[in-house]
Amino acid sequence: MPVTVVIGSQWGDEGKGKLVDLMSEKADVVARYQGGANAGHTICWDDGERSEEFVLHLIPSGIFHEGTPCVIGNGVVLDPAAVLDEIEQIEALGYDVEERLKISHNAHLIMPYHKQVEAAQEAARSENTDDGAIGTTGRGIGPAYTDKFARRGIRVVDLLRPEVLRTKLTRAIEDKNAVLKGVYGAEPLDVDEIVEEYVAFDEKIDPYVTDTSQYLNRALAEGKHIVAEGAQGSLLDVDFGSYPFVTSSHPTAGGCCTGLGVPPTAVERAVGVVKAYSTRVGNGPFPTELTGETGEQLREAGGEFGATTGRPRRCGWLDLVALAYTASVNGFTELTVTKLDVLSGLGELKVCTRYRLPGGEETRRFPSEVETLENVEPIYETLPGWDDDITGAREAEDLPSEARDYLRFIEDELDVNAGRTSIGPRREQVLEGGAAAPAQAPAVAS
Ligand code: GDP
Repeated sequence: MPVTVVIGSQWGDEGKGKLVDLMSEKADVVARYQGGANAGHTICWDDGERSEEFVLHLIPSGIFHEGTPCVIGNGVVLDPAAVLDEIEQIEALGYDVEERLKISHNAHLIMPYHKQVEAAQEAARSENTDDGAIGTTGRGIGPAYTDKFARRGIRVVDLLRPEVLRTKLTRAIEDKNAVLKGVYGAEPLDVDEIVEEYVAFDEKIDPYVTDTSQYLNRALAEGKHIVAEGAQGSLLDVDFGSYPFVTSSHPTAGGCCTGLGVPPTAVERAVGVVKAYSTRVGNGPFPTELTGETGEQLREAGGEFGATTGRPRRCGWLDLVALAYTASVNGFTELTVTKLDVLSGLGELKVCTRYRLPGGEETRRFPSEVETLENVEPIYETLPGWDDDITGAREAEDLPSEARDYLRFIEDELDVNAGRTSIGPRREQVLEGGAAAPAQAPAVAS
């Protein structure tokens, strides 16, 4: 059995964690392929015995299924303190992590100086540039990826050799101190303190570290099914998003291969997770943003506050121009539409199907260059809304006809069917299929 990759189709926070958690029931391995502790994947469950909500930042969303191995791939940047903290919290809930979690020896580490550099850079950007700060999460992700590609990063494997670690760290910290002090006028970091802290991580992290690419390829050779989990969303991809208001990695489908070391030929399904409306955290263009009352209603009804930072998310109508673009970049084989329940009672619903460019021309092409994107005017189709609370539906057929028409509109415009529809945060609030009955939907792995 091959790889199924689960991808955010918008600006992140689409509800990927919930879907991956659900798919983990039948997966043999769940693997996270990019990003860092800037992600926040919320899992809610109520199995009769207990009701929990947990926000995962680094550990894959399969961890709450006993027996399912979870992999943090080489494409992730790892904050050792954050991962150890998360392990402890999950173990405190009674789940075994040590036997199941595998961390790539090639993953790059977030160092304290990465967070410091990021904070200094964001502060300088806000002061010195017209377009202002990117709106990053302050977790050191961008600077860690910068060091990775500048070939001066420190990797998990370095933790296993304390002497090498000490030498590399001492050199790196001296360099960073020169930048922090010289360029940003910030306080320098204490070399000995950081060396001591990271040497101490060595012992704790050792049981989890392995060659995860080999592990995954062995699993594939044995016919196992891997669910690959992306973080953030396609419109934040460093190549395909609205650069520079993007994340520093590849949430899109290609990131799954480079971030896990699995071949593209193994990826059989690409599930696009589509929130029924749009949200964006941080700065950058957002053509369908609603700044008035409707935006506020969406934010409140959808609980649109960042799982990692608590920041209010910007909210707006569904943007099918952007979605058609990410469907093509990722080759979605099916969709999962989430948070359809949030649209209940909103009255008529608008869906953007085209942009009007500054010269007046209409287009269905998504311009990823910021200068154009921030000046497009969204052109909407208006669809009837519905008032009923749909959170109790158990079959797609239970949905009001307007809700099914809304799903059908998305499926038709993107030419991809919904394999599932989510109508609430809990595991059981997922319906098989979209507008079509489940039997007509594409085969859903699950
Ligand atoms: P992720 O990063 O893509 O996993 O998404 P987040 O966890 O940041 O945000 C999704 C939020 O929506 C979480 O609080 C989920 O519990 C919640 N959620 C997921 N699916 C649904 C749904 O269908 N309806 C509602 N109302 N909430 C949902």
